[in-house]
Amino acid sequence: MLVKDKRIAAEGVNTLHKTFDISGHAELQAIRKAQAKLKTNDLSDCSIYASGEPCAMCLTAMYFTGIRKIYYSSSLAEAVANGFEKSEVMTDQNLKQLKDSMIYLPLAGTVDDPVRLWAEGVNK
Ligand SMILES: [Zn+2]
Repeated sequence: MLVKDKRIAAEGVNTLHKTFDISGHAELQAIRKAQAKLKTNDLSDCSIYASGEPCAMCLTAMYFTGIRKIYYSSSLAEAVANGFEKSEVMTDQNLKQLKDSMIYLPLAGTVDDPVRLWAEGVNK
């Protein structure tokens, strides 16, 4: 649930099991709805209330939208203890282990750097 000015701006429910979309976490659903409703990407004047401690994906989205007040009921540790095994990799101490379990390399020298190309276009 996303709150702005002490009122509910948007709510979300977890849809990833129905839509087969891994980004269907309730927090992201609420953020999408709030951004569409308020017609802004800046939600820095909003707070979010979640049933569980946000995962790294949702926390990152909150950071990008400017949300800095996040309240949750259950911790990631409780989620893991109750069978949400993928929550385990989302803790700070395990993010490095997650990256180490993947091929996670910059494409330096093999393609044009899209950020540099974008910056050159912006600065023209
Ligand atoms: Zn999440």
